[in-house]
Amino acid sequence: MALPESFIIEIKERNDITDVASSYVNLKKRGRNMVGLCPFHGEKTPSFNIYTENGSFYCFGCGVGGDVITFIMKIENLDYIDAVRFLAQRCGLNMPEDGYDDSMSALRKRIYEANREAARFFYKTLYSPNGKVGLDYFHGRALSDRTIRHFGLGYADANSYSLCDHLRSLGFKNNEIVAANLAFQRDNGNIFDRFRDRVMFPIIDLRGNVIAFGGRIMTDQKPKYLNTSDTPVFKKSANLFSLNNAKNSGEKALILCEGYMDVIAVNQAGFQNAVATLGTALTPEQALLMKRYADEVIICYDSDEAGQKATARAIDLLRNAGLLIKVITIPDGKDPDEFLRNRGAEGHDAFKNVIERSGNDLEYRLEKLRRKYNLNQTEDKVAFLTEAVRILASIDSAIEQDVYISKLSKETEVSPDSIKQQMSKYQKRKRYSQRKSDFRNLQQNLSGRNDKINPDRYKKPRAAVAEESLLAYMIKHPDKLSLIESQLSSEKFQTEFNRKLYIYFSDRIKNGYDPLSSVSGDFTGDETARIFRIVNSEFSRIATESTLRENINVINDEYSKLKTADMATASDEDIASQLRRLRESHQ
Ligand SMILES: [Zn+2]
Repeated sequence: MALPESFIIEIKERNDITDVASSYVNLKKRGRNMVGLCPFHGEKTPSFNIYTENGSFYCFGCGVGGDVITFIMKIENLDYIDAVRFLAQRCGLNMPEDGYDDSMSALRKRIYEANREAARFFYKTLYSPNGKVGLDYFHGRALSDRTIRHFGLGYADANSYSLCDHLRSLGFKNNEIVAANLAFQRDNGNIFDRFRDRVMFPIIDLRGNVIAFGGRIMTDQKPKYLNTSDTPVFKKSANLFSLNNAKNSGEKALILCEGYMDVIAVNQAGFQNAVATLGTALTPEQALLMKRYADEVIICYDSDEAGQKATARAIDLLRNAGLLIKVITIPDGKDPDEFLRNRGAEGHDAFKNVIERSGNDLEYRLEKLRRKYNLNQTEDKVAFLTEAVRILASIDSAIEQDVYISKLSKETEVSPDSIKQQMSKYQKRKRYSQRKSDFRNLQQNLSGRNDKINPDRYKKPRAAVAEESLLAYMIKHPDKLSLIESQLSSEKFQTEFNRKLYIYFSDRIKNGYDPLSSVSGDFTGDETARIFRIVNSEFSRIATESTLRENINVINDEYSKLKTADMATASDEDIASQLRRLRESHQ
């Protein structure tokens, strides 16, 4: 990274982090800061903080943090240069002509171009004599030519070199075609097409770029579906098929289908808000991605056993992401594509009916339980209730709970009070084990034994806390650097990461730079998050010149202790007592 400093500062000035983040997250004011539900992990109470004072963010739930550039890197899945470019476009600035390493960004651009040309080529092939088998397949699945064009569907013929030859004739180099995952490379360096004799489904991102393909084979060979592997422009676990269409549908609900053909059939029947995963099971990232564009997800998986398993898994992930859930059951055990094909012109109304009849995920889970047990037998009844109570305990709304308790009571002829009693017993047990695991996590965090960024931290907690407190103060008050330097040299730092930061920040301040402006470009994502945790920590808030003096004393003291070879390890308690002392001296 070597973008001019002044340019980065201008980018940050013109892209206020609160403005930028609020187009992805609902933010509320809390004191001087803003808080919201974190877009990077599922949560029900907000731990995502924006610090307007220094233009940064930090999530206490998942530990992600950084500046506005980091935020865009994470949420748009871009590298540093492309995130800066994204923000430059947002505020109408031109990127500097040169002077920075742009080779990765250039390769990404070529991959987008190669993918776009490949999609054009596959579409053209579909309507050529070569593509008849593919076109027959789509027509046989009742897709209209209009739908085929809308999704840019195509056909990769059986020849091993068709696409490679075509792309090379357009000036693409072998390494670019391979990097796009459109071709494989043999040991002798020759390349050949990855997709052969397959109907092709382009995957398009929200900016309209073709980022990948899915291909379905026209013979009995395996695998039936082949998808682009991860490339510099594509991460399978973080994208969804047809989200570009769904985003423009204006619906606050998404229909989650199992495969490409389901999505397309549902779309053709007039529901633009259908999406599918890309040949893998639903991931937490995809659930959070859906949360950005919808409040509710209607799960529409196949009725077979695999589909039902996938439904149960999806319910957990979507609930964790904070989405409302409905589950569609297609009549007669059909998949949606088949169901719509059989209905023909009446597909729209029939499917709308199915959606309207779909129950929420609770009803779906209770129904599945009901099928498992014979409710005429006492033993089964008890087992059924035990499991049902667990399901009810997981919902937040007391009113909803009451409704289901009275339903269950009627069904099983067990009094509502007994069901309630059993539920509160279960909840108590659950809360207890939750508290226990929270406590364990807290202990682990305090002791920092699994700290990958600053592994020395747990061995020298007293020094580390003083170092961090000092760093936070120094970044906030760059004018105090010479005072600090007159009393403290970098070799006195006991933890290596903090020493690195001390050298980095004093260097920046001496050269007249804003200490924080290039952090996201100069450090890894995890390191950046740690730096902004330090900057926005309680230590920073309460830092004064007197705490500074105390911290310098602690660091010097720990250093001389080390010199006298007193290696007694400080306990975890030290961190807490130190924080207490700092607070007291502040008051
Ligand atoms: Zn988070």
